[in-house]
Order: sequence, then structure tokens, then C-alpha cells
Amino acid sequence: MPLIDPFQRTIDYLRVSVTDRCNFRCVYCMPEEGSPVAPKEELLSADEFVRIVRIAVEAGIRKVRLTGGEPLVRKDLVQIVRGIASLPGITDLSLTTNGYLLTEQAPALAAAGLTRINVSVDTLRPDRFKAIARRGEMASVMEGIEAARAAGIGPIKINCVAMKGVNDDEAADFAAWTFREEVHVRFIEIMPIKWNLDETTGFDPFSAHGGNGLIQLKQTSGSMLSDNEMRRMFISAADLKAIIEAAHSPLLPAEIATNGPARTYRLAGAKGTIGFISQISSDLCENCNRIRLTSDGFLRPCLMSDGELDIRTALRSGASDEDLAGLIHHVVDHKPERHYLAEGQKVTGRGMSQIGG
Ligand code: SAM
Ligand code: SF4
Repeated sequence: MPLIDPFQRTIDYLRVSVTDRCNFRCVYCMPEEGSPVAPKEELLSADEFVRIVRIAVEAGIRKVRLTGGEPLVRKDLVQIVRGIASLPGITDLSLTTNGYLLTEQAPALAAAGLTRINVSVDTLRPDRFKAIARRGEMASVMEGIEAARAAGIGPIKINCVAMKGVNDDEAADFAAWTFREEVHVRFIEIMPIKWNLDETTGFDPFSAHGGNGLIQLKQTSGSMLSDNEMRRMFISAADLKAIIEAAHSPLLPAEIATNGPARTYRLAGAKGTIGFISQISSDLCENCNRIRLTSDGFLRPCLMSDGELDIRTALRSGASDEDLAGLIHHVVDHKPERHYLAEGQKVTGRGMSQIGG
């Protein structure tokens, strides 16, 4: 029996945040000092994740993506992957990572059953990488992508959060990458998660402009981008598409296996594709097929609405599989029709790294 929500959408995709910890501090995701994290004992164990996913799959979930925080910082990630990959009924298991620890882990993840991967790369320039991620090294991420490819994980998708004045001048470079290699670049519109955070940090990336007129992100900021900063950095998928077409050639509609809402194109002669996830500028809610499980055991019906249901307490109080399946159905039954950002709704409860982006 498929899982159907009140708006007749089939819910067959579960995004699982395996940790709220991260070794990066991307300016649009968390403060320099890190987001508050749940006590270790509140994070679900590998066995708990696998049990919930098994019950979800029995209820109708078919595709699972592991995310975080940074999933590769979890020591038992391979165990989680192996447990989920071996569940009958799973048709797709993928992972979203910042790629920093991928070189050492790709072979074991592939052996455990991971077939697809998304690596987040917001810039192809090492100096900007430092300003955006505020930790790690770009070279390690690039090596990680090659290691994943060598381990047989594919297709490899690249998640790039587009920011006006920060990396929009690299849109054509990202597009050029698809000529050289079979990478599938997906530009993501910057999202208003925690947009109402601290407006008084004094962090103003617009205060200094480089010779090319671009915004210089300060590396020493103590916080993350604020509401206004993110709003000013917003660039729509349509504008990015126009930049790429002006630099290259018309983007041709393309097909690639995806669970997601990306609209996908290819430049003539390119090995890879270019996608746009325009959850802000266009209404993707109509075709939403997903629910989320946070690392501390809460089920969320919508990324951009604060509602969530505690499943950990039931899980740790002897709930039966039927009880837990009932909670999954309850969340699907309460999936909102859409987000209400345009009406002023704000996502304030958790940050992106805590929900699992
Ligand atoms: N740490 C992993 C990574 O960065 O790929 C997985 C978790 S991260 C929260 C998942 C995705 O969410 C990344 O591609 C990241 O760029 C994206 N993301 C985080 N905050 C965002 C925001 N405010 N708007 C749009 N995308 C965001
Ligand atoms: Fe970490 Fe991913 Fe958030 Fe960057 S986007 S801080 S890598 S969780």
C-alpha cells in the first residue's frame, strides 16, 4: 500500500539526518561557533535508524537519502548504510555530504551498498571556499568526488547553493565542468531556514567589495548569514539559467534519475547535466514526495514548516512496529499542502543542519 497524504501525493521518499554535527560551518547553514547539537544519547543509534527505516519501507517508502549535519562524521555510517541497503523494498539509497571525508570512506560506503551521492560544492575557487565553508579544504572535497567515482558510486551530483554577489559569477564555470566530466550540477536557491536569526551580529558581507565588484565574505564572522543578508543574496533559478545560456548555449531539457524536484538540462555535447532546484521562486510543493527523520528521532512532514513528531520516545519505550508505523502514517496525514513563506511563515525551530537539508 503506498503512503498517500491528504493532498493525494504519494510519499515514497525519506530523508534521514544521521547527525546534527558538522565539520564545516557554511555561512548559510550555521554560525561559526556551530549550531546547538543534541546530547549524544538523544541521537538515534544505527540500529534505531535501521528499524525506523525498515518500518517506513514496509509502510510505503522506497527511496532513502542520508544527510545531516555531515553524515561522514558519524563513525557508524557504514553500518547504517549496510542496514538500510539490505532492506527489501528499498529501490534507492543515496547520501548528501560536504565531501571532506569522502576519500577515506568512499570504498567502504560503496561496499556497504551506497549507490548514489550528492556532494556540496558552492565554489570552484579555493579562497572563496574558505570564506563560505569556513573549515576544511577544497582540494579534499575534489579528491573525495574522484574517490567516490573510483569506488563506483554514481551518478555524482553536485549541490551548489547559489548566492548573488558571492558565487553567481561562477555559474558558467560550474556549467563548463559538465563538459569535462560526468557531473550533475544542481543549483539550489538559498532557503529561508532560520532567516530570522540574529540580525544584529554586525556581519555584513556587503560592506566590502573586491575589485570584481563581488561581495567578499568575511572569514572571521562569528555567526551565519542573517535574514536580510540571505534575502539580498537570493538569485532565482531563472536568472542562473540565463547567465549560463549567455555564457555557453541554450540549455536542452535532459533526463537523469532523480528523486528530487530539480529541473534538469544539458548543454549540447556535455557529459553531465545542470539542474535547478527552485523551491523559493516556483511552487515545488505540489509534487513533494518526502518526509524527514531528524538525527534525534523526530519525524517532519515538511522542511519549511516547524511541525514535527517525537518518534524517539515511543521507540525507546517499547513501541511495537505497528505503533511506530502509526506515527509515520500520522505524520503523512499531517503533511501541509505547501509552505507559506510568501505569506510570512518563518522556519525558526531548527536550522538546516539540525533538520537534515
Ligand atoms: N553536510 C552535508 C552537505 O553539506 O552536503 C549534508 C547536509 S546539508 C544541510 C544539505 C544541503 O543543504 C547542502 O547541499 C547544503 O548546501 C544545503 N543547504 C544548507 N543550508 C541551506 C540554505 N539555507 N539554503 C539552501 N541550501 C542549504
Ligand atoms: Fe555542514 Fe552541510 Fe551545513 Fe555546510 S551545509 S555547515 S557542510 S551541514
